[in-house]
Order: sequence, then structure tokens, then C-alpha cells
Amino acid sequence: MSTGAWVQRSKKKMSNKKHFEKYEQGSLRVALAEDDEYRHCFSTTCDAGQLHHGGVDQPIFTCQSCQHKNCVACEIDWHVDETCDQYQARRRTERGEEDERSRAEMEKISKECPECHAPIEKNDGCDHMTCSKCRHEFCWLCFVDYRNVRREGNQLYNKSCLYYYPILREAEDEFLVAEDPEDELGFLQELEAAARIAGQNEDA
Ligand SMILES: [Zn+2]
Ligand SMILES: [Zn+2]
Ligand SMILES: [Zn+2]
Ligand SMILES: [Zn+2]
Repeated sequence: MSTGAWVQRSKKKMSNKKHFEKYEQGSLRVALAEDDEYRHCFSTTCDAGQLHHGGVDQPIFTCQSCQHKNCVACEIDWHVDETCDQYQARRRTERGEEDERSRAEMEKISKECPECHAPIEKNDGCDHMTCSKCRHEFCWLCFVDYRNVRREGNQLYNKSCLYYYPILREAEDEFLVAEDPEDELGFLQELEAAARIAGQNEDA
């Protein structure tokens, strides 16, 4: 049986009119889509397409079905007020910025264990991390080994880390942690009083 005869018989078999129309449209579209000049409409609500002559040198094509303006060169909706070069340059910049943003976002929630390099995600507020793979403990912000910090103190944190705290002489240390200025004053007076008493005791 020739192809033509087969198509004729198949068409007859499609008794449902709707199906037949769909078939007609479909085969037309298939034939068109094989044409190098065929372009489909980029409107999200339209699935039409048509032949566009002139290629990228005449980038605008208006959809005959929905009147949507498309850019053939950029394969997107027509960019009003921009040439194709301008549009594409702007998109490149935007994409670069998006990549940078998502990379920064990922870095905020995901880091590598400094010991075994397993990826670790941060899902609560605590910066004291324990690797689920190797149990290594480290600071989320500066990656310092947390066991050393526990043993030796906060001066081990990286100086730029939020938790870094230098070793101070004891009195200064307490002075620095007093938050209320009146407390500080009271504390100083107490210190002076203590010094006086100590002095008197020494004199005696
Ligand atoms: Zn359209
Ligand atoms: Zn364009
Ligand atoms: Zn680990
Ligand atoms: Zn840290």
C-alpha cells in the first residue's frame, strides 16, 4: 500500500471530527517545523508558529495568531527599547548576578567539614557544628577546631570571628562584660573599696 493510500485510510478511520482537525493541524505544524525558517511564538498563552523570512537580521516577528511580538535572534519576547546586543548583554549581567547570589545563598547554608570535606548544612542558629560523618567539631564562622576552643578558650577563634575573645587580666575581663554603666561604676567602687581594705590590712 502506498503512503498516500495509507494516510487516506487512516484519515477515514478518524471518525471523530475533532481528532481529525487535530491531526490536520498537527501534520501541518510538523511540516512547518521542519522548515528552517519556522519560528514558534514565545507567548506563554500561545502555541502557534509561522515561517519567518529574513532570519536574525530582521529579528522581530509578530505572531499571526496572537499578535505577540517575538525576537527571532534572542528567542524570547521582543525586547522593547533595546537592540538584540543590548538585551543579550543585560541578560548576561543579570545571569551572572543571579549565579553570584545563589552561590552566596548556598554558602550561607552549606559548607564543607574542614576535616573530612563532607558537605554540612546549617539548619539552626547554633554556630558550633558537629560533622555528622566524622564527628569533627568546628566553628561555622571561622572553622576553628571546637575541641581546642573548649580546652583552651575563645582566643583560639579566628580574630575576625564573632566568638573571638582575647585573654585579658581577670579584673579587666569582668569589667568588659558589665553591660550596665551603673554596674560598671558600682564594680569600680567595689574594686577601690577592696583595694583600700587590702591596704589597711597590710598596714595593720
Ligand atoms: Zn502567538
Ligand atoms: Zn533580540
Ligand atoms: Zn567531617
Ligand atoms: Zn569562629
